[in-house]
Amino acid sequence: MGTYNIHAGHCPQGQGANGASGFLMESVEDRKVKDRVISVLRKAGHTVYDCTDDSNCTVGQNLRRIVDKCNAHAVDLDVSIHLNAGGGTGVEVWCYSDKAADIASNICDNVSNALDIRSRGVKYTQGLYVLKNTKAPALLVECCFVDNQNDYNHWNAEKCGDAIASAIAGKKIQGSGAAAPAPKPASPTVKPNAAFDLEGWVRRLQAECNRQGFSDQTVDGVPGPKTLAGCPTLKRGASGNITKLLQERLNSLGYHCGVDGDYGKAPFHETYDAIIKYQTDTSLVPDAIVGPKTWSKLLRLS
Ligand SMILES: [Zn+2]
Repeated sequence: MGTYNIHAGHCPQGQGANGASGFLMESVEDRKVKDRVISVLRKAGHTVYDCTDDSNCTVGQNLRRIVDKCNAHAVDLDVSIHLNAGGGTGVEVWCYSDKAADIASNICDNVSNALDIRSRGVKYTQGLYVLKNTKAPALLVECCFVDNQNDYNHWNAEKCGDAIASAIAGKKIQGSGAAAPAPKPASPTVKPNAAFDLEGWVRRLQAECNRQGFSDQTVDGVPGPKTLAGCPTLKRGASGNITKLLQERLNSLGYHCGVDGDYGKAPFHETYDAIIKYQTDTSLVPDAIVGPKTWSKLLRLS
């Protein structure tokens, strides 16, 4: 059994020095990954210290507190969890020396295989404060890029945590290439509501599109070309009754979001998230824009 220090980088979201943000917020996701790694390793019988600094502070204070927490324990390995930004794609692991090179390389392989994203490999630096100042062998994982659409589409904090924990515990995860499983399945959390009144929903949508002047169609609950043509394109910033109907439909299909009639403006709003997931699962372009192709699927016309 091993003894490990694990921490997530940066301050908590909204407090002090946050991590990167894009489609994902680093300070939010890195904590999810960290929690998962810790719980998996503890369940397997390892001793793990959480050295995350959850106080509101500056970058310098945050780094010093993390190092102090790490150096308070004699461990086999210090692991720092981050998400990357700046226009790349994939997972990479930074090491101070080659002491933890095998584990670093296994983390790259496991995360790349588990999330089906690129492995950028193991890199070395003497410039990272935490790696430089911790006493035990240390490595820093950049799980994926918060501002890359492909990484975002493949992102799953729990899977990533499992992959990292396996690598630390000396296990390898096989890539999808070897086992050749079925094409990408829908997210496991997606459970459609069989009791949803689709006809009633179509009826209300038709009536609302007529009321707002987008269409002049028969309100019969039967979707057709006129229904589709009457559905306005919805994207970030949209709000109102049609957005609310869209949210209702997404929920009925198992893509959970609030039914508040507000699409939201931020790129990580839950409605945005639900649409991206739905588009990805139905092989549409995941652009978060609900145009004719997405409406057509929602109306069961294609
Ligand atoms: Zn970071």
